[in-house]
Amino acid sequence: MRSKVRAGFLILAVAAAVVFPAITADAAEVTFSTAFEGGSIGRIEKLGETTFRVHVLGQQDERGRNRAATWYCFRMDHVQGRDLTITLTDFVGEYNDVPGSCPMNEKIRPAMSEDGQTWSHAEDMAWDNEKKEATLRLKPQRDSVWLATQAMYPHSRFVSLVEELKQSPHARGEVIGKSVQGRDLVLITVTDYSKPDADKKTLWLQARQHAWDGGTSYVAEGALRFALSDRPEARALREGNVCIFTPMVAVDGCALGLPRFNVHGYDPNRHWDEVNLRDKRYLELMPEVWYFKKAILNHVARGGRIDLMLNLHNTETGEYVATQADDEKSLAKMNLMYDRLLAATSFDPSPPQKLRTSERASGNTNWLYQEARIPVMLMEQRIGFSTKLNRWPTVSDRLEFGPALLMAMAAGANAGGK
Ligand SMILES: [Zn+2]
Repeated sequence: MRSKVRAGFLILAVAAAVVFPAITADAAEVTFSTAFEGGSIGRIEKLGETTFRVHVLGQQDERGRNRAATWYCFRMDHVQGRDLTITLTDFVGEYNDVPGSCPMNEKIRPAMSEDGQTWSHAEDMAWDNEKKEATLRLKPQRDSVWLATQAMYPHSRFVSLVEELKQSPHARGEVIGKSVQGRDLVLITVTDYSKPDADKKTLWLQARQHAWDGGTSYVAEGALRFALSDRPEARALREGNVCIFTPMVAVDGCALGLPRFNVHGYDPNRHWDEVNLRDKRYLELMPEVWYFKKAILNHVARGGRIDLMLNLHNTETGEYVATQADDEKSLAKMNLMYDRLLAATSFDPSPPQKLRTSERASGNTNWLYQEARIPVMLMEQRIGFSTKLNRWPTVSDRLEFGPALLMAMAAGANAGGK
């Protein structure tokens, strides 16, 4: 490891010596690319050789409303050693039919990578709250730099993960349907298959309903890898629980670089109240909601239990857990999970640091409590600065949160007996 790092440094030092003197007159023009999985950008204004204004593309829903400008992801080339000034703009959109929402502010820093794999944050950022624009200054050490709302977690990484997990004797994967563009919708069940399910609790973790919620994919991957591991806690988890994962709902959006809606404009975390499994029109328009809703309701209809379900999302600066459940038993389980996370993990809820039970009905997945009494929660995790971590959340923070979340859900599900 050490020799690798030193070799890398040596190459950089040599490259710098060669490249720097040549920059003034005939440096290659800085170019932009989104020709990769998850790429997205709007109009680019060139204000100087290394100064640009970059518009966030955004996406509207099926009614032409609710423009979501939550996702940008692009690569710049020919940038080594150059002083770049990038102004990100056009963030203002609409949320829940209320115009003016802005998914960027002074507490957020764009994710940055110089290899497209490892991510840090572009910390040198000025926020103009009048113009709703973020101006970044960067001096990349390599010749390419990626900038994105948060660390990319592409669809292909999920496909590889599923292939890898299938090798485990503790995991079973199934394709439960197809997205609008024909990508697999995957459900993974992890348990100790030598023990009868009748004695177990069932946890259901769902993530990535919105393509821009990349942090939730890292959490889900961390949870899955832990659940399949040889750690004693993981073995006990499998013996006592059936862990069902639906880790990537917005498969098309993750591949295409859409912010929020499916390719027909439907929000995968709305419409859960209106989607009727007997009406095939919903299957055509929003198969992502249709198939996952069907999988969940079928599981229950076939006599399966769901002791706790959690649907994971990202927000700009809010962090919380919300539910429509109002019976004592469900709330006791959820509160136990909540308190564990608060006490011992990076979970850093916004005030008043309580489970939110007065959630406005919006047809999101929490609706399943109304329809089928499933104790389901929505968890939002912020991409903005975490005072608890004292940093902008990293990929490692997300991966590590996965096991903690799963263990806290298991503790909650197992509270108070059957
Ligand atoms: Zn979301």
